[in-house]
Amino acid sequence: MRSSHLFTKTERQAPHDADTANARLLIQGGFVDPLMAGVYSYLPLGLRVLRRIEAIVREEMNKLGGQEVLMPTLHPKDPWVKTGGWDSIDVLFKIKSRTGNEYALGQSEEEIVTPLVLSRAKSYKQFPLAVYQIHWKYRDELRAKSGIMRGREFFMKDMYSFHTSQEDFDRFYQQAKEVYLRLFSRFGLTAKVTEASGGAFSKKVSYEFMVLTDAGEDDILYCERCDFCVNKEIATVKEGDACPRKQDGALKSARASEVGNVFDLGTKYGQDFDLPFIDADGNKQFPIMGCYGIGISRVMGVIVEKFNDEKGIIWPKSVSPFAVTLVSLSNKDPEVQRQVSERAAELYEEWTKQGIEVFWDDRDASPGEKFSSADLLGFPLRLVLSGRTMADGMIEWKGRTEAESRLVPLADITEKLMMFVNE
Ligand code: ATP
Ligand code: MG
Repeated sequence: MRSSHLFTKTERQAPHDADTANARLLIQGGFVDPLMAGVYSYLPLGLRVLRRIEAIVREEMNKLGGQEVLMPTLHPKDPWVKTGGWDSIDVLFKIKSRTGNEYALGQSEEEIVTPLVLSRAKSYKQFPLAVYQIHWKYRDELRAKSGIMRGREFFMKDMYSFHTSQEDFDRFYQQAKEVYLRLFSRFGLTAKVTEASGGAFSKKVSYEFMVLTDAGEDDILYCERCDFCVNKEIATVKEGDACPRKQDGALKSARASEVGNVFDLGTKYGQDFDLPFIDADGNKQFPIMGCYGIGISRVMGVIVEKFNDEKGIIWPKSVSPFAVTLVSLSNKDPEVQRQVSERAAELYEEWTKQGIEVFWDDRDASPGEKFSSADLLGFPLRLVLSGRTMADGMIEWKGRTEAESRLVPLADITEKLMMFVNE
């Protein structure tokens, strides 16, 4: 992509009201645009990040055997009344139509997925099965804050699994937890797993996946020597206590953001909709269900919180909108200027043809402006072509986190770049 074609641009000034790094940097870089509290447009660069995260999540859910569906966000009232959610879920957005009918906006979709699946899966032979979707969720959060980390409209992956026995559920639950940990590590994030009570409807255990960050809203206690971790809200231990697992470790306290969670829903939803299946002995039973969420837009915010410096974002390669920024510098001599632009255009075409995602800063702007904009946008690699380096047959190479740049012969650059992209 040529930056001169992009309808968004990086702003010199950070927004004055940003409460967190992700809000500040994502708005300043032109990744997202706030429409109102907790509601954002994803602009071309931001959408590329969201799609990357989504693609990785999809890949891992497919490996787990999940079948992707897309359910509506606009729901009739009836299933929400059946489960009790209409009156008990305070964040549920309710809508009245001009004919006086009432609707809900999806905040999680057990109400839709349960009848969808269980009206089709009626025999034990059709289980276990898991379906998932990736799209918007709506919640009437009292305080939308921390940029894209707590929205009223946000992007989520929600998966639901159905099992004929507790043992089968436990097996899948364990597998899903492992997949989650691997998944977050693909974004460069280390998630700690807390154990928590399953919320209003269930006495079962649920697990929250927490990433340490001051921009988060959860307080956790964890042990540095093992994977013990609890949410302070429910904890019977406190900071400084000996770790219940390792007596030689003391518990530390930290702020964290919940990037995902998994719930044991038990048989509640099958029962609410009275949709049993027929087991091997010909008896009616309600399936055990699990629900598995990942806040995809929140993950994007957390990535920015974890990976930034005073100059801007530092995208992990796996989710960066582009692998490389090509910066062509302007020159006072029109002939040199023409040569630099021409060579940059050739490199851009060649790399793009090879499938490398290149962001070419071809604007008529000062070197200082181009460098600060490249730092703010935070793509992993910056390559600078100028009249001076070109005269020596060189191009300047600098990783986003490297302090110094170095010169690479133009003759080798494509090969080196390919290695960088694929490593
Ligand atoms: P929280 O405690 O942060 O409100 P939750 O327990 O309500 O989260 P779930 O209902 O399980 O979360 O939703 C699944 C995932 O969706 C969460 O783990 C989180 O990553 C994300 N999420 C939840 N609420 C929001 C929100 N308002 N904005 C962005 N992401 C959210
Ligand atoms: Mg919530």
